[in-house]
Amino acid sequence: MSLWDEPTKPMSAQKKEKPEEGRASIYRTVFTNSCKEMMCYPDFPFPDDYPNYIHNTRLQQYIRDYAQHFDLLRHIRFKTLVTKIRKRPDFSATGQWEVVTRRDGKEEAAVFDAVMVCTGHHVYPNLPLAHFPGIEKFKGCYLHSREYKEPEKFKGKKVLVVGLGNSGCDIAVELSTVASQVYLSSRGGSWVMSRVWNFGCPWDMVLITRFWTWLDNFLPKAVSDWLYVRSMNKQYKHEDLGLMPVDGASRKEPVLNDDILSRITCGVVQIKPNVKEFRETSVLFEDGTVQDNVDVVVFATGYSHAFPFMEDESVIESRNNEVALYKCIVPPQLEKPTLAVIGLVQSFGSAIPTADVQCRWAIKVFQGLCTLPPVSEMLEDIEEKKRNKVKWFRTSNTLQTDYITYMDELTSAIGAKPNMLKLLLTDPRLALKVFFGPCSPYQFRLTGPGKWSGARRAIFTQWDRTLKPTRTREAPPATSTLPTLLVLGMLFLPLLLLLTVLYW
Ligand code: NAP
Repeated sequence: MSLWDEPTKPMSAQKKEKPEEGRASIYRTVFTNSCKEMMCYPDFPFPDDYPNYIHNTRLQQYIRDYAQHFDLLRHIRFKTLVTKIRKRPDFSATGQWEVVTRRDGKEEAAVFDAVMVCTGHHVYPNLPLAHFPGIEKFKGCYLHSREYKEPEKFKGKKVLVVGLGNSGCDIAVELSTVASQVYLSSRGGSWVMSRVWNFGCPWDMVLITRFWTWLDNFLPKAVSDWLYVRSMNKQYKHEDLGLMPVDGASRKEPVLNDDILSRITCGVVQIKPNVKEFRETSVLFEDGTVQDNVDVVVFATGYSHAFPFMEDESVIESRNNEVALYKCIVPPQLEKPTLAVIGLVQSFGSAIPTADVQCRWAIKVFQGLCTLPPVSEMLEDIEEKKRNKVKWFRTSNTLQTDYITYMDELTSAIGAKPNMLKLLLTDPRLALKVFFGPCSPYQFRLTGPGKWSGARRAIFTQWDRTLKPTRTREAPPATSTLPTLLVLGMLFLPLLLLLTVLYW
């Protein structure tokens, strides 16, 4: 039974707040996992006083500001539901689509030369109840993380959170402040890291660089795997905390959480293996342990994606997170390349700059300025990408891609990839920042179509905008007596030697 549907349960007596059907839904406390310099629109940096990781309401404000700045609102029709997208009868000649919409109960149809599907992949909850024997006997409540908003109604409850993804981890940490006990069950383990890397730097400003990507690809796989595990274990020793992924050095999407370690250490969150069976009031785990008196289960088991508005659903071929799209964007078998799926990828990098580059690539394809190879080559490319996914992510069943490699692939096709050699010869300071510094979105606006004249300056000032929001009190520089002692030592050493010689 669902937490929301059972009226006799005291918890559900509180205000009901169901997520809106067909739309993504988040809990109140979601903050971004990518920092502002790595997730901004490439020609629209965040205000410098914005914090590095941003609350969802501020991110929404930033998106509004962007739309206003570029005068986009007049192009957007809000509160309009797309109910059907179908090929026009003359599609093979024109590539045109008929799009049916509903607004205020009124249906309308219009013809479009091209369509971009940007519906995301966090709308349809993956609630795999069939994988959990006995759930029908369970007398407590359960819900999917999509329905979770805030912790109040969980006060004093014993809660099991299933799934060690970003949702599961955030929710377990938040619930641990009010629940009597939280158990966090993980099937395959996960890499968990803090948003804050060494010296308080945002993790992604340090780790998402061309240098690290080059090294990762250049080094023998065994060595790069070893380095990867070492760096992931620097903050949290995953073996000791029960977090270690079962698929070794897989580059699966990390979980970013700044509090889980302390919550585990304080015992308010306990990591458990996968659930074997639900009983009336207890849960049996795969290691044979049983947890009694569990009141609520939160299934933070992720999402699946769907395109119910496509009349012919086979156009966007994607099943179980395995997507057959050329460059993860275009269905390869279409007679005319006039449909693009934007944002159906996942990487260490952020969604906004990825979608920006995808859109720029798709526009060139629509305009015929970037021609696609023959279908057989596109299919071979898709297969090759799947093989590469197995190498890095241990599965082809994933939307994961390598961020910089993917961004470079798309931007080189449209002439917007930074040319490192040319940069080194013409602007060596910038070249060093581009190669060794954060691979921030501005890099993909330095040159080519969509070039932004502020990109170079934005790269040179990105660390200033990063430091600004935390420098809220003028603090003296760190001092240490060691350098002073060394200088004094060096000054007095000759004198000491002279005195010693004279004395003897
Ligand atoms: P997710 O990343 O897909 O994680 C789902 C979890 O559920 C995984 O740990 C998975 O285990 C587990 N799972 C799935 N099916 C299962 C089954 N049948 N039995 C047992 N375990 C199962 O989903 P999410 O955490 O909801 O995140 C969705 C996306 O939103 C991600 O991209 C995430 O980064 C993003 N997100 C971002 C934030 C933020 O920015 N602050 C917050 C929340 C979510 P395995 O690993 O073993 O497959």
